[in-house]
Amino acid sequence: MDFLPQDVAVKFRERFSAEPLLVRAPGRINLIGEHTDYNDGFVMPAAIDYGTYFALAPATDGVTEIFSLKFNETFGLDLDGEIIPVKNPSWVNYLLGVIHQLKQHGRLKPFKCVFGGNIPIGSGLSSSASVECGFAFALNELNKLNIDRQKLVLIAQWSEHNFVGVKCGIMDQFASMMSKKGHVILLDCRSLAYSYSPFQLSEHSLVLCDTRVKHALVDSDYNTRRQECERGVARLQKHYPEVRSLRDVDEQMLRNHEGEFEGKEFNRCLYVVQEIARVQSANHDLKNNNLAAFGKKMFETHRGLSELYQVSCEELDFFVDIAQKHTGVIGARMMGGGFGGCTINLVRNEAIDEFITALTKSYQSSFGKEAGIYRVALENGVSIVREHDLNMIL
Ligand code: ADP
Ligand code: MG
Repeated sequence: MDFLPQDVAVKFRERFSAEPLLVRAPGRINLIGEHTDYNDGFVMPAAIDYGTYFALAPATDGVTEIFSLKFNETFGLDLDGEIIPVKNPSWVNYLLGVIHQLKQHGRLKPFKCVFGGNIPIGSGLSSSASVECGFAFALNELNKLNIDRQKLVLIAQWSEHNFVGVKCGIMDQFASMMSKKGHVILLDCRSLAYSYSPFQLSEHSLVLCDTRVKHALVDSDYNTRRQECERGVARLQKHYPEVRSLRDVDEQMLRNHEGEFEGKEFNRCLYVVQEIARVQSANHDLKNNNLAAFGKKMFETHRGLSELYQVSCEELDFFVDIAQKHTGVIGARMMGGGFGGCTINLVRNEAIDEFITALTKSYQSSFGKEAGIYRVALENGVSIVREHDLNMIL
């Protein structure tokens, strides 16, 4: 079930008879730059208008309680006690890791919290980062800790690494916290330097098409890809000692030593090196307001992910194939780690309905499955929701 900010606010008042601080924490997409983060490359994420919403207020009875609307479960804890991961409920670990880190910045007052949202879980829109970021931001506000956003990004990521056990890159938390409405972020995963580029979408829209599949072996395949990249780097280091990661490699360097690579290593490295260059050049397309050129690069990325990096799957290829044949779609690719999840599509406004119908019908008839469809707009990073904004939503 989906929840909006007003649902969370209403539930909070009902339960705790108090006025809460309301925080909105968005999910994110990544326009281009896939599997580049762990190779020290660039990514281009942006926050979207789907989010997790938090209502918090100091506890008048001194007892800290967190209520998840999604799971209809309450978790109570003593903030002054030891904060460690729990077996059940698993959703609370995303939050406990944040508390663990924030406690090092000052004493946290007991609080009441209700939260819920409308990001589809596990579809690659990073509901987990939004949970961590929204909660970290809200507690920072409530306790006046004055921690800046970039530090909160690291706290959120720390929580996912250490309390959830997922060794994610920095992109998801960065996008949820730092995004700017109508813009994408060009993020350098090596230095964490970043810049914003306007993403002007007057005649087009972004449509996500969810295959609703997640194939097995995702984690082991992910690890193999990482190892193949590392082995490629080790081979090149013999000739170019200054190379630290594929970020320091260009296509010519790779091709000069193609014969020395084994198995699929060459193809894996070629994809990454091309993709790192493609993100930078796609950023120039945006600066030149050339959305058509940008869209073409999305198709190129998909081909690389499917043929060279081999992290696509039948369903994702099917979606991109339909998009590529549709005259109203100017760019499409699989988004995220791969083997399932969503494609991201850049679609002319007047063609959206027809494209969605065509895709959902063919998916149903060829795979017997129902596609999920999310039209998304680019939003600000985590923010406070004011009563005024809420009235506008109501
Ligand atoms: P995603 O790709 O959406 O980030 P993850 O598996 O990384 O998928 O994270 C999903 C997990 O995050 C959920 O299983 C749940 O524990 C937690 N989570 C996400 N959204 C919510 C929510 N609205 N309420 C409670 N927990 C949530
Ligand atoms: Mg996640």
